[in-house]
Amino acid sequence: MTTIIDGKAVAASINGAIKDANAELQQQTGKKTGLAVIIVGDDPASHAYVGAKSRMAKACGFFSVQHTLPKETTQQELADLVHQLNGDDGIHGILVQLPLPEHLDADAIIQSIRPEKDVDGLHVANVGKLATGDLENGLISCTPAGAMVFVRRVHGRDLSGLNALVIGRSNLFGKPMAQLLLNANATVTIAHSRTNDLASICRNADIVIAAVGRPEMVKADWLKPGATVIDVGINRVPAPEKGENRTRLVGDVAFAECAPFASAITPVPGGVGPMTIAMLMANSVIAAHRASGLKVSEQLSKLISG
Ligand code: NAP
Repeated sequence: MTTIIDGKAVAASINGAIKDANAELQQQTGKKTGLAVIIVGDDPASHAYVGAKSRMAKACGFFSVQHTLPKETTQQELADLVHQLNGDDGIHGILVQLPLPEHLDADAIIQSIRPEKDVDGLHVANVGKLATGDLENGLISCTPAGAMVFVRRVHGRDLSGLNALVIGRSNLFGKPMAQLLLNANATVTIAHSRTNDLASICRNADIVIAAVGRPEMVKADWLKPGATVIDVGINRVPAPEKGENRTRLVGDVAFAECAPFASAITPVPGGVGPMTIAMLMANSVIAAHRASGLKVSEQLSKLISG
């Protein structure tokens, strides 16, 4: 029997615990979790993501601010806004929606966020903590943190003896995902576009995590029977069966053919996607607690780190 991992249900339980943790924080300190989201330009997909993040922050009871800047915004104007938010005691988390318009240096902006407010987990201080095995004091990139919740639910906290394959080596996902798996004692392989014979590497993996951006690349005959498959990819493909010019979302894994061979698998949509926003909220409420010298509830810690 294959378990289809219900990302919406897992995310809903985490969001509930975040709401409670935020209410507790407010009771103890008189302060809500403050999350500022910055978006530059008018990319429709980015606006949809930011809208969803701001709505969830409000649903969790946070103080949520969205800064919507025109695409002509200069590096200095954006840097000034980040500087102002860095110094604002009511803001515990700052998220700059990526990608930024091409004339802006995204890395300089991300690295200018105070690490303790870097709820996307992309500042080198947070990346370095994860890379050196400190999972307690930094902030971890949201999508890999969410994928790791699924892995722990299937395999527990200790992945000793298991082979894990991460397909994709981006700073946003592949590298932090590999670090999380390694920290949990898995034997980790990272594959990328220069990897030879990916199919046979994949056949050796007990846990396959695909974050590539190529529709339905991972096929059934790549899988070791009983593997756990986490699909991070989000790809829009034509769906003529739904009507002219209609599209649908698929992952990097050919779900229908792979599901019977997997012991657990995430669908797209409804798998990793909802977890990214939940983990952003979790990072924000954690940052707010730390700013007041507090720890988040045992209930929330258990849900997000096993
Ligand atoms: P990215 O920065 O474009 O990285 C893609 C990675 O895939 C690169 O490391 C690339 O290798 C590798 N790759 C490309 N073609 C390959 C091939 N044929 N075989 C093996 N590896 C190959 O993308 P990303 O930001 O990590 O995102 C990956 C996917 O996850 C996208 O579909 C994105 O939309 C999705 N995503 C989803 C969420 C979510 O919330 N669910 C969050 C983040 C990303 P090279 O390094 O050699 O180029």
